Amino acid sequence: MSQHFKPETLCVQAGWTPRKGEPRVLPIYQSTTFKYDTSEQMARLFDLEDSGYFYTRLQNPTNDAVAAKIAALEGGVAAMLTSSGQAANFYALFNICQAGDHFVCSSAIYGGTFNLFGVTMKKLGIEVTFISPDASEEELAAAFRPNTKALFGETISNPSLEVLDIEKFARVAHAHGVPLIVDNTFPTPINCRPFEWGADIVVHSTTKYMDGHATSVGGAIVDSGNFDWEAHGDKFPGLCTPDESYHGLTYTKAFGKMAYITKATAQLMRDLGSIQSPQNAFLLNLGLETLHLRMPQHCKNALKIAEYLEKNEKVAWVNYCSLPGNKYYDLAQKYMPNGSCGVISFGLKGGRDVAIRFMDHLQVAAIVTHVADARTCVLHPASHTHRQMSDEQLMEAGVRPDLIRFSVGIENADDIIADIEQALQA
Ligand SMILES: *Cc1c(COP(=O)(O)O)cnc(C)c1O
Repeated sequence: MSQHFKPETLCVQAGWTPRKGEPRVLPIYQSTTFKYDTSEQMARLFDLEDSGYFYTRLQNPTNDAVAAKIAALEGGVAAMLTSSGQAANFYALFNICQAGDHFVCSSAIYGGTFNLFGVTMKKLGIEVTFISPDASEEELAAAFRPNTKALFGETISNPSLEVLDIEKFARVAHAHGVPLIVDNTFPTPINCRPFEWGADIVVHSTTKYMDGHATSVGGAIVDSGNFDWEAHGDKFPGLCTPDESYHGLTYTKAFGKMAYITKATAQLMRDLGSIQSPQNAFLLNLGLETLHLRMPQHCKNALKIAEYLEKNEKVAWVNYCSLPGNKYYDLAQKYMPNGSCGVISFGLKGGRDVAIRFMDHLQVAAIVTHVADARTCVLHPASHTHRQMSDEQLMEAGVRPDLIRFSVGIENADDIIADIEQALQA
């Protein structure tokens, strides 16, 4: 479906366009394999000379339809689904980095990504330098090395809610001949489209708002098609020189703007797996059909609750990038004028222990290791998601030990406020 449609239309209809007599609703192609009439037809698929389906680990029609919808929403040329957001982040980098390479990353990122980049990828010989998202262009530039292959950041960081200055990061990345990769999980393309600000590749944990109903773990990688790999061919031999595991084919020559996603599919998915199941892609698609309705409600509720918390004398501090006076308010208004996300964080007077007691008394908001769900949920990162990090690392990632992450759902805001009120009394 063509990209000139507005986001609301793309949410509902992009990706799956049935022909005469086909199902109106995207079908679940619950099949590992696909049938051909001649041996020759199948051989051409394996040589990437024809496009078509042969094995679901590489491609599946349900997944491809949902990936196409996400690509349309972000304004990209191609996308692929992965089994999780973690897999998406790993593939996004591993597609252009190998042992001996390096990348630069904002220190304000999700705890799981911090571990993946700082610990696990290091074991593969890929090094990362973390740097504050507030760093100046000079400081950012100083983190680059001759073997640096990418710059990475989160539009709004989970859970510290710092807003990435996408244009600044894009300028520094491009000055060094590398792409900017942006994790756009929290705003979703409804609130921010990083490609419009110079990002080259976008990643998502679709587990969050895109699914929106906490049913399916998943991820996505979207390519803008804008980065000129061949102009920096010496940095990206995997894309710009022949792949011996594909009969000497060169991705940039054979696939042009589709090179990056084709390599990720044909090489990484082939070798490493991590596909999203077609069943989960179907559920993700149902979520996407209402993303444009849910995001404004999340944002409206979150702002109302942040304003309530700010005025409450039991509350020590409130952090919400769309709240006037917030350190990131101006950046949030620039990149997300219609609202940022439904996640806020705050601390209570009395610190860590009071936070834990408060959470135990909530009834509408549930304690779960999840965010960005239709249902309001709450978490104490220092005790839960980030418990493997030292206090020093926590502060570096912008996570205070007393921080309560409050993911505002799409219920009635007054009911959520009443729940907070009674839990604070208790
Ligand atoms: C949750 C999350 C991830 C990891 O995604 P999973 O789907 O849980 O693997 C990555 N980035 C951000 C910003 C997230 O919120």
